[in-house]
Amino acid sequence: MDKYQHILVAVDFFEKCDAVVKRAKDVATNYQAKLSIIHVVDSLPMITAGYGADIPLNIDLTTELMAEAKKRLHKLAVELSVSEDNVWLEMGSPKTEIVRVAEENKVDLIVVGSHGRHGLALLLGSTANGVLHHTRCDVLAVRLQDD
Ligand code: AMP
Repeated sequence: MDKYQHILVAVDFFEKCDAVVKRAKDVATNYQAKLSIIHVVDSLPMITAGYGADIPLNIDLTTELMAEAKKRLHKLAVELSVSEDNVWLEMGSPKTEIVRVAEENKVDLIVVGSHGRHGLALLLGSTANGVLHHTRCDVLAVRLQDD
């Protein structure tokens, strides 16, 4: 089997994402592969109100989320010695953006957590599942344990 050359790690910045990042870094080091990082800010984040209405968050909040995500991504890139050229901050559907960036940049392995904000209720989180079913490259789902 060919060696992996370009690995993309999908980071949601939830508390367990460190394990995903660490595994991606280890695999990249072992294969001497390029490591890239992606974070996707949902384009229309929603607050689901108890009385049944879905309220879109306002545009200022979306801008703030992008700014905060940019800072966190920059910090992570420095920690991992990943150049800014290999850091993607996108807006939209996480699954769709991860698959698109991977395809456009000849990524041959995507690393995701087995779940994130959706918890273990879904054995394989919806993003991990969506990426697995829509990309043509290999996907490594790092199993995250709930406490
Ligand atoms: P989830 O679908 O929320 O259970 O997340 C599963 C995994 O998908 C996470 O551990 C991350 O690796 C990845 N992921 C989820 N949401 C995002 C996001 N907004 N940006 C980048 N990666 C994400």
